[in-house]
Amino acid sequence: MSYVGRFAPTPSGALHFGSLVAAVASYLDARANKGRWLVRIEDLDPPRTAPGSIDEILRCLDTFGLHWDDEPMRQSQRQPAYKEALELLVQQGYVFPCSCSRAQLNSHPLYRCNCLEQPPSQPEVAMRVATPAISITVEDAIMGPQTQHLADEVGNFVLQRKDQLFSYQLAVVVDDAQQKISHIIRGSDLYQQTPQQVWLQACLDYKQPSYGHLPIIINGQGQKLSKQNLATPLDMLQAPALMSEALERLGHPAPCGLRQAPVAEQLEWAAGQWDIECVPKRMQDPIAFV
Ligand code: GLU
Repeated sequence: MSYVGRFAPTPSGALHFGSLVAAVASYLDARANKGRWLVRIEDLDPPRTAPGSIDEILRCLDTFGLHWDDEPMRQSQRQPAYKEALELLVQQGYVFPCSCSRAQLNSHPLYRCNCLEQPPSQPEVAMRVATPAISITVEDAIMGPQTQHLADEVGNFVLQRKDQLFSYQLAVVVDDAQQKISHIIRGSDLYQQTPQQVWLQACLDYKQPSYGHLPIIINGQGQKLSKQNLATPLDMLQAPALMSEALERLGHPAPCGLRQAPVAEQLEWAAGQWDIECVPKRMQDPIAFV
């Protein structure tokens, strides 16, 4: 099987240390398996795209020696493909229009509306999946197997919002299939969302990639590093030190002589050593780069 990995940043701000760890892990797993490594810009929600951030993200990856194959895919240009997939799911009878407000939907993780029984009359509706009462188990190369009951634990999730924007869940599945992604290594914040993606893949007759979710990196306040809690943007001038820190987090500490070496040398060394079994399953201590 040919290996294709990917890094799929949302351009809502600059990359931070958590993004670097995810990018390095998926890059190394691809290179160690003689695979290709693609970048996909998840600019699905244009108002959330920070001006200049796409170029900045690509420049940052390049500075860290994370050179991608092919032209990066842009989700903002993929609307026809998402529409087609949604239509297939509609034909299979899984999708229903829903007029509930975001506040109602957010009021409870398993909020149940009655739009399924009483279809809304207003024109502005979201399209949601009526999840079946089945359990999905996904093997995870780092975290181990995960089983989720779709109806009880996930609920009826959104595929297209009222403002017509397609959801991350639909887009990610369609794009992973289009890019023929065979291996997904990403942050564990998406671990819980994987069973629903696997189910959508089955409905759409797509091949299921293998998954590995990395431990979350938390800051000094015990929060997950994200753009929302203002994780410090990666300092490109510190690339060698940050790379060596990322490798250490991933259970592949570089030998002393390599710690200040150019990123390309560190990555080459790490690709030769890479063993996904060495990636820690839990985050140890909060890190200093916040
Ligand atoms: N776009 C998501 C993020 O920036 C990642 C999605 C994925 O890897 O599936 O967190």
